[in-house]
Amino acid sequence: MITKPRGTEDVLPEESKLWQNIENTARKVCELYGYKEIRTPVFEHTELFQRGVGDTTDVVQKEMYTFEDKGGRSITLKPEGTATLVRSYIENSLYANPQPTKLSYIIPCFRYEKPQSGRLREFHQFGIECFGASSPTTDAEVISLAYMFLNELKITGVKLNINSIGCPVCKKDYNEKLKAYFEQYRAELCPTCLERLEKNPMRIIDCKSEICSRIAKDAPKMIDHLCEDCHSHFEGVKERLDNMGVEYTINPDIVRGLDYYTKTVFEFVSDALGAQSTVCGGGRYSGLVEELGGKPADGIGFAAGLERLILVIKKQQQNAEKLDTAPDLFIACMGENAEKFAQKLIFELRLMGVHAEQDLCGRSLKAQMKYADKLSAKFSVVIGDDEITKKSAILKDMNTGETVEVSMTPEDICKSINKEAKN
Ligand code: ATP
Ligand code: MG
Repeated sequence: MITKPRGTEDVLPEESKLWQNIENTARKVCELYGYKEIRTPVFEHTELFQRGVGDTTDVVQKEMYTFEDKGGRSITLKPEGTATLVRSYIENSLYANPQPTKLSYIIPCFRYEKPQSGRLREFHQFGIECFGASSPTTDAEVISLAYMFLNELKITGVKLNINSIGCPVCKKDYNEKLKAYFEQYRAELCPTCLERLEKNPMRIIDCKSEICSRIAKDAPKMIDHLCEDCHSHFEGVKERLDNMGVEYTINPDIVRGLDYYTKTVFEFVSDALGAQSTVCGGGRYSGLVEELGGKPADGIGFAAGLERLILVIKKQQQNAEKLDTAPDLFIACMGENAEKFAQKLIFELRLMGVHAEQDLCGRSLKAQMKYADKLSAKFSVVIGDDEITKKSAILKDMNTGETVEVSMTPEDICKSINKEAKN
């Protein structure tokens, strides 16, 4: 038997209602905030992520699904959404419209990670990006969108953590201090962090190894070393979040996994999940649009992991709404004529917005009625040659058992089952 690849999941029909609810909620909130959906390719040139996510990140160094296509190009399945959106923003000249450009997406992402609860090799993100606006009002708007999205999903126990990781100006001095601090522990750091020490010491703060994270605990914090501009920006963001009543905690240890962040970074963390508790993460970046070949423009965005949200919802909302798959009407048939007559009628009923079904597996009449029960059909009708000649049949309400004679036209059936005909 061929099974699914490790780290992938099938979403079975019983669960798809949950997915649809999350996606609909995301789209609804985006509409209220003026974010427009953008759809982009599942794969991109590998170089986009090397430059856009950053060569020193775990995502690029260890986690990408990269392969050579038949034309000898290096292709990568998207590990995240931001680099792609920046590419699309530049390639489609979206900067020429009145700014900011507000974009949203729901995408599959691929990362070669060790699969565990809340950590998959194929997973899904809902995210947004806002290009061309650098005010603290923008940061607060973006964060409040994520906050509203999570609130609308009615999940509880989610905390917002925010931090500022400065800009290239203040990062330069800070990185020196950080390097000096970690140098003292050179002998204890993991091999990856030794490399980070040279290339990007701030990455060490994000290391998941026990020893490195213990050492990182007492490292100097970026938030204490912000330049004047970054400091006042962060104060501005906090003030605006307070103003809207969006509650947050300042967490100086958030540095985020991707290289391009500057100033505000944030995470929403759920208390319903174990180790993989971050349901949404994001931040501001500058330099990325330029790095990928565009005219300088600031960006800010976030991405929420849909599988992690599903885990929270399943834990907290045991009676979450299931997909309604019950047909409005089941037509049981006696003989081939009836089966053909029913198929045409069902086609017309479906055109009018009625969910009608018939047997497709050659069941006996008795078995067809059992099947109609299994499907929880709301109404049923049995037709044979007589009914076709008479053009009428007995319609049964499957809940009350009541019966009534109806003529076999889609309009009359619609009326009798209290379904308003579409058009
Ligand atoms: P983590 O620290 O958990 O690895 P990350 O910093 O790598 O997360 P981001 O790149 O910020 O994650 O992605 C945004 C969100 O996407 C995460 O907060 C999480 O909800 C989700 N996510 C990231 N990686 C995975 C994965 N392998 N499987 C499922 N969801 C994921
Ligand atoms: Mg990760």
